[in-house]
Amino acid sequence: MTIIKESTGRTNVSDQPDAFIRNHQYNFIKEQALNLVTAHATANDAEVLSVLRDLSHEKVFALFPALTEEQKKVLRPLTAIKDSDAAEGFLAGLRPHLIPFPSVTTDNLKRLFPKAKRLKGPNLQALDFHELSYLAWQENTNRFLVAERNGRLQVVSGQFGASRKQGICMICHKHGSVGLFTAKTSASADSYVKHGQYICADESVCNSRLTTLERLERFLDRLER
Ligand SMILES: [Zn+2]
Repeated sequence: MTIIKESTGRTNVSDQPDAFIRNHQYNFIKEQALNLVTAHATANDAEVLSVLRDLSHEKVFALFPALTEEQKKVLRPLTAIKDSDAAEGFLAGLRPHLIPFPSVTTDNLKRLFPKAKRLKGPNLQALDFHELSYLAWQENTNRFLVAERNGRLQVVSGQFGASRKQGICMICHKHGSVGLFTAKTSASADSYVKHGQYICADESVCNSRLTTLERLERFLDRLER
């Protein structure tokens, strides 16, 4: 078990004044948009559709406690979605408003995992930081995870065994290909317990399906000293 916290050096997102949507919120909105597309394709009852539209609107607006008028304008077209073309257009309009994962360098990552000698780190160039709620990569049998929590980076590493198993991921709570992530956790000051949890085999798939940070935070907390 390794948990270290380092400031992200990010107190606000002033470099992107219009960014207000985090990856998991985007995924949640996407789910709502696709639900509306399905509803329009299957339900003929105008009243049912109207209720669904109102519900989607309510749920999405509830994600953001303080929306500006400009931000409301970005989200409002959700309720007009009737087909997949409209959904795609709406989602494309959200992308400039995504808050990226804090930028990190390989040196940052090496400092975050001091016990991992010869750490290579992921191919950072290949990643779209707008699509990450957490950064994760595999080296040999080890998996490394980095998440942002209250402006700081929280990290954990453990053994990860790829499997052909299908199951529910402890981080995104969706069904798919999972593997067992095992990390040491301290049950008390002097006794270590190994804790195993199933998580998505592919971290990018996990990031694209995660609609709340609740489970990710619980996952990290369980391994924290
Ligand atoms: Zn997952």
